[in-house]
Amino acid sequence: MRVLVVEDERGLAAAITRGLTEEGFTVHTALNGVDGLWSATHQPHDVIILDIMLPALSGYEVLKRLRAARVWTPVLMLTAKDGEYDEADALDLGADDYLSKPFSYVVLVAHLRALLRRGAPARPAVLAAADLTLDPSRRKCQRAGQEIPLTAREFALLEFLMRRPDEVVSKSDILTHVWDENFDGDTNIVEVYVRYLRRKIDTPFGRHTIDTVRGVGYRLNTEG
Ligand code: CA
Repeated sequence: MRVLVVEDERGLAAAITRGLTEEGFTVHTALNGVDGLWSATHQPHDVIILDIMLPALSGYEVLKRLRAARVWTPVLMLTAKDGEYDEADALDLGADDYLSKPFSYVVLVAHLRALLRRGAPARPAVLAAADLTLDPSRRKCQRAGQEIPLTAREFALLEFLMRRPDEVVSKSDILTHVWDENFDGDTNIVEVYVRYLRRKIDTPFGRHTIDTVRGVGYRLNTEG
């Protein structure tokens, strides 16, 4: 099993390498985001351990570019409590699992084995709900084959909803994930953007894709 470790703390990278090698893994390391992205896209790996805080290119950017390049190798993200991103962000960004630093080596191996058992899922590159499609890597939204131009924020909001089909999501959840956590405006902004979205993806087509769940939030209706 080939593991790519992208970690700029040399001591930690060396310790992980030593430990995993003893467990029978073949380990490659990259000490910054640029090298990590190159290795991840050009060499076959079964799993990638990716630190978030990296010089040159953050783990967040590495992961985004990796998925945009349709590389679906499972990624275990290393997060730090005092970091800019937390565990929820790691999963939201497309990581398959995360570990907060400091972590125990036994726990790391257990997480890796679980990820390897799951393998790389064949992920749908394009999200779909009835005849509405959203292609995150191409930044394209279409309904019934007709392209719908969306602003970056509208796109992010629709993507967030389409990744949780038929689930009720609260306005504050949307606010946290689509706006940044430091946004201190009120949740009315979510209502405003849902309205913008409906005007583009629903109204012209006589559809109702985004349901309002009173007092809670919204639900992407896959049959709407
Ligand atoms: Ca780091």
